[in-house]
Amino acid sequence: MKLTALHYVVAFIVVFSTIVFIVLFGRLPAFKGTIVGKAHVLLWHKIPARLIAIDKIVTGGRFCNATSSAGNYLVNEKNWAVTTFYITILTVALVFFFKDAWRYITNPIHRLLIPPLALQPYFYLYLCAFTDPGTITQSNVSRMLDLFPYDDIIFYPDMPPCRTCHTPKPARSKHCSVCKRCVARMDHHCAWINNCVGYYNYRYFLGFIVSNLIVLVYGSYLTFSVLYMEYMRQYFPEGYEKAPKYFWADYPKWIRLVHSQNWTAAVSSLFMIATLVCPLVVAFLAQHILFIHQGVTTNESEKWGEVEWIVNNGMLYIYEIGNAENETAESASGSGSENEPGSARPRSAVWSRDKAKTDNSGRRVYIHVYEDGEMNRSVPQGMIQTDKVPDLESVENIYDKGGVFRNWREVFFPKYT
Ligand SMILES: [Zn+2]
Ligand SMILES: [Zn+2]
Repeated sequence: MKLTALHYVVAFIVVFSTIVFIVLFGRLPAFKGTIVGKAHVLLWHKIPARLIAIDKIVTGGRFCNATSSAGNYLVNEKNWAVTTFYITILTVALVFFFKDAWRYITNPIHRLLIPPLALQPYFYLYLCAFTDPGTITQSNVSRMLDLFPYDDIIFYPDMPPCRTCHTPKPARSKHCSVCKRCVARMDHHCAWINNCVGYYNYRYFLGFIVSNLIVLVYGSYLTFSVLYMEYMRQYFPEGYEKAPKYFWADYPKWIRLVHSQNWTAAVSSLFMIATLVCPLVVAFLAQHILFIHQGVTTNESEKWGEVEWIVNNGMLYIYEIGNAENETAESASGSGSENEPGSARPRSAVWSRDKAKTDNSGRRVYIHVYEDGEMNRSVPQGMIQTDKVPDLESVENIYDKGGVFRNWREVFFPKYT
């Protein structure tokens, strides 16, 4: 009986972590063409398409409508469902830990450390959920515009104002369709905390991930230690020196131990949950550390992905300040059709880089010129096409402050308006 229950727990955790991993990371370019990437396509596109087709035949699409409105509510409306799910899992796990493992932990240092570390995720969850992530309002928008300069690649000054909030869009901001507001330095909307992760709560979000990781790693260690003590007590009461060197490979004994008592079954379940979920949290944290190191948000990393595609297809052009003669030529030609998008330099360019620097402090903008000559934005006054971007490395990310600590400083010490 115990055996089956435990097997279910393990099977559930393995399947659940695998699915979460595929859903979270499968779309990353690194997994393109790999089994993870294919599983992502299968889970996101192929299986849903099949299910919709079956439902159309069986219930006339009613099941899908009901699920999609429920799913819609869960994904597109602010709600506490996922947060409640998370709090329940964590709380149930901690209750079992204190009920079944705590009494075997005798070391006073652990006894002192465990309660505050176990409470940390709740504390950070509270901070994440109830801190304003950086809502852009009429009163702070001009300060936000000053704080975040446009890079003229993924954010540019002539972006139209937000259609919902009717405020200008500062660089690095994004409108959250769930919370229905624009957020400064928007990272992403997170269902676990039922809030956006933005300029003012990104640090708490990192704290939330790290506090969860600590609970998982420390929890794995403690539950394993307790089980190991019981293993020794049951099989090698004479002392540690009698125990085999590769004690962990002694499966029959371990399996018997796990099923020997209710509390060993509970503590081993906790151990397995903690160790299996660990890699997911590590991967998520690693992704965010990488983002901070690169000076991008989750939102911007997607935008950079698009820029990379545009550059690789030879469609990103550099526009810099031109002299008066060129300016008229350029604005007369409208969408820059005079300089065929394919040509690296305009035929009539009487353009000097030094002059450009003094005139407009070297401002350069990047414009995506489509094959038909259309552009993703209008050419700013006085600018002419000077070059084609050869590769992504030659485009500077101005939000990457460089140095080891500068990007981290921005995350941990945001400026208040
Ligand atoms: Zn908005
Ligand atoms: Zn949001």
